[in-house]
Amino acid sequence: MIACPCPVCHSTDKKDKRLRSSILVESPTTRIVVDTTPDFRYQMLRERVSKLDAVLFTHPHKDHIAGLDDIRAFNFFSRKPMPVFANEMTQEVIIREFPYAFTDFRYPGVPEIQLNTIAMDPFMIGDIRIIPIQVWHLKMPVLGFRFGQFTYITDANRIEESEKQKIRGSRIVVLNALRIEKHISHFNLEEAIAMAGELGVSAAYFTHISHQLGKHADVMAELPEGIELAYDGLTLKA
Ligand SMILES: [Zn+2]
Ligand SMILES: [Zn+2]
Repeated sequence: MIACPCPVCHSTDKKDKRLRSSILVESPTTRIVVDTTPDFRYQMLRERVSKLDAVLFTHPHKDHIAGLDDIRAFNFFSRKPMPVFANEMTQEVIIREFPYAFTDFRYPGVPEIQLNTIAMDPFMIGDIRIIPIQVWHLKMPVLGFRFGQFTYITDANRIEESEKQKIRGSRIVVLNALRIEKHISHFNLEEAIAMAGELGVSAAYFTHISHQLGKHADVMAELPEGIELAYDGLTLKA
């Protein structure tokens, strides 16, 4: 956190350097990013991503959409609009936040976005099948996504039973765990551990971690078997 004097913000452990949360999902033929954070540009440069087939959005909060403008680099090299998948609520905010990308006359160089509406039905992007899962972020419905044996849930503090059923059977589940103390719209560490247990997954990774959770190494030492903290750059095979 900017200007924070705490030991986590001053840690020299690379795993304590936390950018805003997103993931890249890839099959042999298709590559998707879930959420374009304010750090999207740097994340793409760091991971040397030279081709991206689509962007998928979980919800319209700024820390998950702010980097969308930077998809224009992909437009430039692919010479086509970027397919963006979002529900109607998120699309409305995207159009409001990036109005210049949706006007009839667009200046050259603005991001070219092709919007696709997600409902709750499974859908395909390339050869990747995606099952939307609705979770609650206080009062905001947020989408999680299941890709085969891998499920990604961020920004939740409650999951209804019917949606838990869609997650069960995943081999790897990512859940958000913001901090130790309770929070109004995010699972805290204890709630995330309990949810991983309820979902009966063999491997859970926690993301959307704030500096208030503590240092990576200290928290890892306390976690039950099968649960780990994710960190920037972590790669998983499902
Ligand atoms: Zn701090
Ligand atoms: Zn968030």
